[in-house]
Amino acid sequence: MLDNAAIAELLSREAEQASEPLRRAFLRAARKAFLWDHEAYDLLAAGKSLTELEGIGPFLDRKIREWFESHPTHLCAPEIRDEFLTLTRARRLLFDHPNFPKTLQGDLHAHTCWSDGTGTVAEMATAARDRGYRYLAITDHTKALKIARGLNEEQLLDQGKEIGAINVVLAEKAVDLVILRSAEVNLTPLGQADLGPAALSGLDLVIGSFHSALRRSEDQTERYLAALRNPAIHILGHPQGRIFNHRQGLLADWPRVFAEAARLDKAVEIDAYPDRQDLKLSLLRLALKEGARISLGTDAHHPEQLAFMDFALATALLAGYQKDRILNFMSIQELKKWFSDLKAGQFRLH
Ligand SMILES: [Zn+2]
Ligand SMILES: [Zn+2]
Repeated sequence: MLDNAAIAELLSREAEQASEPLRRAFLRAARKAFLWDHEAYDLLAAGKSLTELEGIGPFLDRKIREWFESHPTHLCAPEIRDEFLTLTRARRLLFDHPNFPKTLQGDLHAHTCWSDGTGTVAEMATAARDRGYRYLAITDHTKALKIARGLNEEQLLDQGKEIGAINVVLAEKAVDLVILRSAEVNLTPLGQADLGPAALSGLDLVIGSFHSALRRSEDQTERYLAALRNPAIHILGHPQGRIFNHRQGLLADWPRVFAEAARLDKAVEIDAYPDRQDLKLSLLRLALKEGARISLGTDAHHPEQLAFMDFALATALLAGYQKDRILNFMSIQELKKWFSDLKAGQFRLH
């Protein structure tokens, strides 16, 4: 039986043979397959058209039906497309383990229209409240990432005031939700942040992410160790830097990176954005073995994208992570204690 992941792989292979504009249609459908609400085989069994699925028109409907008849084999994906969960599979896994997601407290990676997101802080807060979260970290990009309208020191302060005012309103309305003042700080390939300690020390939580020099083929262990040792950084965001069908991500001595994260009590992220899913399962298993904490973040750029959390939860579940090593299952008090212990530790370790 071809599941949506197998269909995504077949669509990607067709794209490799096709010329424009078909190539683009195959690629788009392959990406969309990860977000389809239903398995294509369920639609077919119900006698429905596959054109109900986003990215699928009559031509691709026929193509996929042919695959169901010809039963293609050898559907292992190459590394650039490997270890990506589909939404349907992630949801099945969580449905089978209902206790796992139940006590999730919040999301620790989300963007707003202050940088390249499309929702306001208030809209993101409403979406977090609707999901029953106790906290949401607003982690907009910082100034070196110009393409994403990264924030400078002054804008970050202004955003902090807006978040403070929203927290006051939430408290007045007795909504049990706190918006965390955070940032996804842009790291240089040497692991240095683009904002100084003065700007970052006022934040509740800081993610550090690499957004450049992501196609290097040589080992990048040193940049990860430098990022983790950077006292301003609490969480290493989308560590590998991979993108589905676009970029394989960096190479490193991952056990060493994760062991250093564990030693410093910092967290490595599962970025749940469907195209990223980074850390991937095999690396997450290494992180678990080394005892590193993990942080789950949707990297949402729109309020509805908070729903991407299912990808991170399912990956953590598959890796065998227990809730006590996942930041997002901490209460807000425990999470704040973890930040403050890390901040206090900066002086001890550096
Ligand atoms: Zn990022
Ligand atoms: Zn992000």
